[in-house]
Amino acid sequence: MLNVNGDAVLATLRTLAGFGAVGSGVCRPALSPADLAARRWLAGEMERIGLRATIDAVGNLYGAAPGAGRSVLIGSHSDSVPTGGWLDGTLGLAYGLEIARAWMEARPGAPVGIDLIDFSDEEGRFLSCLGSRSFCGDLPGLPAGFAEEAASAGLDTTGPGTAPPIRLDPQRHRAFFEAHIEQGPRLEAAGLPIGVVTGIFGMRRYAVRFDGRADHAGTTPIALRRDAARLLYRFADACHHRFRQTGSTDSVWNLGKVSLQPGAVNVVVERGELLLEFRDLDPAALDSLSAALAMLVDEFDGQEGVRVSLEEAGRLAPVSLDAALQGLVADAADARGAGSMPLPSGAIHDAMVLARSVPTAMLFVPSIGGRSHTPVEDTRAEDIVLGAHVLAQAVFACADSL
Ligand SMILES: [Zn+2]
Repeated sequence: MLNVNGDAVLATLRTLAGFGAVGSGVCRPALSPADLAARRWLAGEMERIGLRATIDAVGNLYGAAPGAGRSVLIGSHSDSVPTGGWLDGTLGLAYGLEIARAWMEARPGAPVGIDLIDFSDEEGRFLSCLGSRSFCGDLPGLPAGFAEEAASAGLDTTGPGTAPPIRLDPQRHRAFFEAHIEQGPRLEAAGLPIGVVTGIFGMRRYAVRFDGRADHAGTTPIALRRDAARLLYRFADACHHRFRQTGSTDSVWNLGKVSLQPGAVNVVVERGELLLEFRDLDPAALDSLSAALAMLVDEFDGQEGVRVSLEEAGRLAPVSLDAALQGLVADAADARGAGSMPLPSGAIHDAMVLARSVPTAMLFVPSIGGRSHTPVEDTRAEDIVLGAHVLAQAVFACADSL
């Protein structure tokens, strides 16, 4: 009998929202006192329901089902951005805690367990998805300053008693589920309470440089200037139109940072730099956008005496989530009479890291107004509770099949 208590889920969320509370939001950056206090409280809750809780040197908190040889792993993160809301990350943990409890109640002594993990620094105070990368053995080294900060936060980082890193065990962890708020407007617009995540957007970042010539802004006639800024502004506008023609209907882009040198109001701009990124689930769409950008750079290079050049500044491949597990989530939504839709995730999640190593699924619940990473972030209580029931049903079906 699957007996998930929605009130318990809401109570866990409300308690977690008290750690680092700022108005209706939270400020719980990784390794801050509020972050560690929330993790230690959650560790106590894990122990209370019968999981064995440990916190490792990077701050990952893991609750292992005792006596289980195989498990379904549920997880998310309890750190937040400095201006965070109460549900980003904690939703998946509150679901996992209640589902693990319900499973032990329904299947006492089962050889298959439900484990729960709270990943450190998903939001990237030090490095985006640091905890899940560490868990998957995908962290070459710690970022500068992390070890000192971890030690002063009271994590056991040195000496013979140091907790070994909590690591993915392919023999044990057969599937990973992460529930999360959508952080966008699509479910609300569709009037549907459940999103079945198909994959997580990949990303490409570029720096576009504009090299002109510095001159006196009062004495140099407009027609004789090699003004890097003027070309940069025109280029930025052209990007928007070209990406619209080239990308898929899911494509998003952001021209997020501009710098101008020497940066004085009375000097014609000599050098400009534009940092931009675009994201999509489809690698072919990312390739098309990259090609469109390169073509645009060629078209603009040399105009008005300004050289334009392009440099890639980073890329992240899109990740598809497991089709069979997506089916379990969609079936569970049907069985609960909850309308669902498939949708990609534009935001990065720990599930993106896990999906490279273990079959992975994500479930979204609607965000009111699509708002997130702000204290106004919220989800209707009935949607929170419905999401818990749907995830539980999918996780139980998965665990029963192992
Ligand atoms: Zn999150």
